[in-house]
Amino acid sequence: MKLHEYQAKEVFAEAGLPVPASELAATVEEAVAAGERIGLPVAVKAQVRVGGRGKAGGIELADTPEELREVGECVLGSELKGLHVDRVLVEDAVEFTNELYVGVTMDREAGEPVAMVSSEGGVNIEAVAAETPEAIAREHVIPSFGLHPYQARRAVSEAGVDDAVADDVADTLRTLYRVWDDNDGSDAEINPLMMTEDDAVVAADAVLNVDDDALFRHPGLREYAESTAGSDLGRKAEEYDFDYVRLEGNVGVVGNGAGLVMTTLDLVDHLGGEPANFLDVGGGAKAERVRNALDMVFSDENVDSVVFNVFGGITRGDEVARGIDTALEEFDPLPDPVVVRLAGTRAAEGREILNTDRVEVEATLEAAVERAVELAGARADGGRESSTDATTPERGGDRR
Ligand code: GDP
Ligand code: MN
Repeated sequence: MKLHEYQAKEVFAEAGLPVPASELAATVEEAVAAGERIGLPVAVKAQVRVGGRGKAGGIELADTPEELREVGECVLGSELKGLHVDRVLVEDAVEFTNELYVGVTMDREAGEPVAMVSSEGGVNIEAVAAETPEAIAREHVIPSFGLHPYQARRAVSEAGVDDAVADDVADTLRTLYRVWDDNDGSDAEINPLMMTEDDAVVAADAVLNVDDDALFRHPGLREYAESTAGSDLGRKAEEYDFDYVRLEGNVGVVGNGAGLVMTTLDLVDHLGGEPANFLDVGGGAKAERVRNALDMVFSDENVDSVVFNVFGGITRGDEVARGIDTALEEFDPLPDPVVVRLAGTRAAEGREILNTDRVEVEATLEAAVERAVELAGARADGGRESSTDATTPERGGDRR
């Protein structure tokens, strides 16, 4: 589970990490009032759970109440990387002399947690990691010992962090490791950790992702999951008990079996398309489950076409076909075209049953994926009014 920035900051603040004063706002009026209480200038930050908001126009500074109103109107209600912005965090703007990075994650190759520091934090940390990995100092951690003070100091020193804040950064890293460990984190990150004129450090951003399978022992964090209003997809996935993984593309993918879905994703990519999601309906695939799966992809505004890949095994093809027909009756008109590939046990019977007025049916996976990619391409180029691509990232991007 990914926490919102404002939620992660609550957890961080409780652990004693230095976060700026901030308030959550759902309307422009609330944002303006928050700005008055906090004191200008403020940063207005879109609360959507994606990285790179800064570059996409989701973080704006405001020096005056008028500017704050303007920025609030621009960011609230906008779409950022395909997600609707229904809340912003209004935060005391930090004047910084340098942007650092601290993070904790699981190094799967090493089989150990790793704590990281860089003196080149900010919006380009991905490029730093890819191009000059040596600019990120790393310390592996033995969980039963935790991150030793000397390790934190060594990482900070290796990263070339300014002496004036070295101790504070080392403390921050140790606290962040503790937060990560205490909350069964998968990733914890402060980027940027801002260094200020008077040699203090401030956590300007906060990322905390936690292991879903450990949520049962963190009732506090579970409440965060329940209050993730604004993510219809997340709420639906929870309600329907699906693992819905959102990807970057526009070809919706549904299948019965995780391996089958992965293969379909690969094939979409191979045939020149980009998958929008991963969704496994699992075995059995009763009509209701099929309906719920379709409801999920149809509600994903990134999806332009859907390929439904069914392999009949114990679940017979004709049963699944009936499930698909029943499910589709509920959607009129169909939000996105659906291409079904049906193979395996009683596939021929299934293909006979499927209502071809509503779905296109293909016998091979290649043909089905090719068709879905074609349909998605045509719709992305032409017709849709509420396109999420191309127009969004520019908005307000380089205002300052
Ligand atoms: P992200 O792009 O989603 O990771 O969002 P961040 O919270 O990291 O913000 C991106 C960038 O916006 C930062 O690296 C800063 O350069 C800038 N920024 C964010 N908050 C502030 C702030 O309070 N003051 C100033 N001056 N810049 C900020
Ligand atoms: Mn950031």
